[in-house]
Amino acid sequence: MGCDRIMDMVYEPENADFLDRLRIGLHLWLCADCARKARRVELCAHALREGFPPPSPGLEEAVMSAVSAEECAGDETAPAGFSLGGWVAAGIVLLVSLTTVFFGLEFRHIALAAGVSFMLPVGITVGTAVTVYGALLIGSHLKTLSERFELR
Ligand SMILES: [Zn+2]
Repeated sequence: MGCDRIMDMVYEPENADFLDRLRIGLHLWLCADCARKARRVELCAHALREGFPPPSPGLEEAVMSAVSAEECAGDETAPAGFSLGGWVAAGIVLLVSLTTVFFGLEFRHIALAAGVSFMLPVGITVGTAVTVYGALLIGSHLKTLSERFELR
């Protein structure tokens, strides 16, 4: 019987009958490599039976207090770099630039040459710009906006 077969029986001793246990004992007595492996398996099984890793009293309270302290510290810091006033100013600039583009001289020439079908890409562009601005504004100020509109 080879070392691999012996080690399979060492890993699953409940499948071994009396004769197999005798073979295992004899092989482990003769084969130092398998005896070392079997000793490690026995130590690991013992550690798992006894509860490994050992319970750490107070670890849960320490982790939860650190998490709650981090949440409280997060409330005091402002969103990095962009205030709500800056976002409103950028929105006003975006709105003014989107509405004044229709009064430009080049726009009239292109619109007259292309006809009504020119309004489709213009509409897609304006809609995309407004949607992206709104998504970024709401995404970057989610906490402020939810507190302002009492959503949480
Ligand atoms: Zn062996």
